[in-house]
Amino acid sequence: MKVLDGIQALREWQSTVTPLSAPRTLGLVPTMGALHEGHLALVRRARAECDLVCVSVFVNPTQFGPGEDLASYPRDRARDSELAAEVGADAVWFARAEEVYPAGFATRIELPSLANRLCGIERPHHFPGVALIVLKLLHLFRPTHAYFGEKDYQQSVLVTRMVRDLDLDLAIVTCPIVREESGLARSSRNVGLSEAGRMAAGTLSAGLFRAQMAYAEGVVDAAALIGEVVAEIGDQKVALEFIELVDRETLEPLETVDPALGARLLIAGRVEKVRLIDNVPLGGPEA
Ligand code: AMP
Repeated sequence: MKVLDGIQALREWQSTVTPLSAPRTLGLVPTMGALHEGHLALVRRARAECDLVCVSVFVNPTQFGPGEDLASYPRDRARDSELAAEVGADAVWFARAEEVYPAGFATRIELPSLANRLCGIERPHHFPGVALIVLKLLHLFRPTHAYFGEKDYQQSVLVTRMVRDLDLDLAIVTCPIVREESGLARSSRNVGLSEAGRMAAGTLSAGLFRAQMAYAEGVVDAAALIGEVVAEIGDQKVALEFIELVDRETLEPLETVDPALGARLLIAGRVEKVRLIDNVPLGGPEA
């Protein structure tokens, strides 16, 4: 596996692996590093579907707001390279913020109707930053497939929309959430939780599963489904940001689940200093 550093190294690698006479599929897995099983599942899926697989590791400053955890975000280049190699990536790419956003960088990408709700309320900088880096990575790598996790559901909806809106010629593949044994969604930020924090954090997923069970028993009302999550969290130390039932594509709030269309139930909250997000599907064509 090649370890690539910066844009020039990426271009050189591309020129060796994709001669114009032999078009091949390239799967890109964009990450911020501190790789875990959630990321590795995306790489394995890309490996199964594409001729070439590249993992990008870039802690993107434009998606962090002032006072957020940009400086303390976990970084471990050697371990990330090792893990990417273990699951069969052809290349892992690292970049410095000064190269990705050189002095004078002026472009912005906005998808307000999708970005200004849910996580975008607490983190107004986040989705414009995500859209910008994803679009830039898609231009740099020119992948035929790009892989995203449903863990960041709002992000996957936004990226899918942007690709559709701009007629970008690639497939966005979204993959299911990988969880710890307790049910807690795997996240690079989970390392910041104490034992007690992990217990409290586990009530987020447990609450969502409880709502799924209630839905399976016929509950379709948003308030009742959200009530199940709240009841599961109980008096655990979770600073809830939101629990919302939304349309799977527009992210508009819903009052009830139409079983044929389905819906997504999303949660965000803080345990100790760690911001956690999670979500589950309810109903819909795949159910
Ligand atoms: P991040 O490094 O947190 O920016 O995540 C990079 C990609 O991995 C995003 O598409 C995430 O949605 C995805 N991802 C992170 N954690 C998980 C997980 N537990 N299950 C599935 N995908 C994940």
